[in-house]
Amino acid sequence: MPANIFASLADYHTHTPLCRHAEGWPVDYARVAAERGLGELGFADHNPMPEQFDDWRMLREELPRYIEAVEEARALFPKLNIKLGLECDFIPGHEWWIEELAGMADWDYLIGSVHYLRQGWEVDHPQYIARHKGHAEEIWRDYWDLYVQCIRSGLFDFVAHPDLPKKFGITPPGDLRRYYNPAVVALAETGTPFEINTAGLRRDCREMYPARGFVELAHAAGVPLLISSDAHTPGDVGANFEEAAALAKDCGYTHTLRFAKRKPSSVPLS
Ligand code: ZN
Ligand code: FE
Ligand code: FE
Ligand code: ZN
Repeated sequence: MPANIFASLADYHTHTPLCRHAEGWPVDYARVAAERGLGELGFADHNPMPEQFDDWRMLREELPRYIEAVEEARALFPKLNIKLGLECDFIPGHEWWIEELAGMADWDYLIGSVHYLRQGWEVDHPQYIARHKGHAEEIWRDYWDLYVQCIRSGLFDFVAHPDLPKKFGITPPGDLRRYYNPAVVALAETGTPFEINTAGLRRDCREMYPARGFVELAHAAGVPLLISSDAHTPGDVGANFEEAAALAKDCGYTHTLRFAKRKPSSVPLS
């Protein structure tokens, strides 16, 4: 893979210390993105909630600090195109809040994620690994049902880490396309892109989110994709992007997306 693959790619899913479980400020991520020759860098820290909700996101009153930190990176790295986004938790009943958030800044994109299952616990939180054992089928049913709702809400510019519940390496038996299919149909019907998120390679599941089978279905359905690292530390900016681009191309993709002020544009994968 030529090194210039980075120039055609944007890493839009990165975090900051405001979420309390990431390190490195936007300037630190920007330095790495510039070194690696990434086409664009974007921030998508975990969205604030109307009031304190859990301990892994910025507080509502920290939103100005977040925007300021992204502006600092823009000022220090004027040649790098730096985008402002958020990773928003989709929680049924909280759609109104995402609509409010959408008006609170000049966002380039809002990413929709499902971390919380209906019972109110996070499917990807290491604290709950034990809950996965022997319950993969129920968890996957619940998760994908919410994921489809998240896509159909129309609130988001793209959706994150599709098969996140596999994080700890526990999956239901059999052909998992029974879960992928309704999500891919929802993506195609609503024209919503998804991301290949390389963070899965750094977890027990040891594969990207989503699995190849999902990417194949998505390509067949004409759904566009982006490639993201979900970096929670600057060293992970653009992590495994060569492999992710190879997977995308292997499944038939020739293009990826950029966003500016919530408008997508298509860019060839070099
Ligand atoms: Zn996080
Ligand atoms: Fe996430
Ligand atoms: Fe994330
Ligand atoms: Zn994420």
